[in-house]
Amino acid sequence: MGRKRIFVIHKHDASQLHYDFRLRIGDVLASWAVPKGLSTEANDKRLAIRVEDHPLDYADFEGVIPEGEYGAGTVMVWDQGTYAPILDEDEKSMEDAREGGSLKFELHGKKLKGGFAMARTGKRDGKEQWVIFKLDDEHADARRKPTSTEPNSVKTGRSLEEIEAEEGKDA
Ligand code: MN
Repeated sequence: MGRKRIFVIHKHDASQLHYDFRLRIGDVLASWAVPKGLSTEANDKRLAIRVEDHPLDYADFEGVIPEGEYGAGTVMVWDQGTYAPILDEDEKSMEDAREGGSLKFELHGKKLKGGFAMARTGKRDGKEQWVIFKLDDEHADARRKPTSTEPNSVKTGRSLEEIEAEEGKDA
């Protein structure tokens, strides 16, 4: 996978439908569960709960995680692409920025484009709570609501139901 800075947003129909926002930082996918998914409206903050880092090759995964396994349910590649870090003067790297609780980057996805920011707001039940929101730029759009109007996979065009029907047989 080289040194490419990739990101992926998995739509994950587990016990509760949510989105997993994953950003390559170092050699892993730093990951956050975003219950409502990302908004394209500037400053529309969405809760993002930090979860386990995932291996890089998970970025391409779409399918069904069997019952009894961690994350059981249907997983869709809702968006993916590359990103460019936006670092403050006192931040040397994305690792640094994440430790400091503040991340900024420009997404080059199929659905999501332009600047986004994340900020750590605290801890709850041992998990870091962050918010993620769109920065105000030419890609900000309050009317678009991509989680509703663009629900399907950017990898295969499939809906969650189609993924489950086609890949869930052995699950
Ligand atoms: Mn998940």
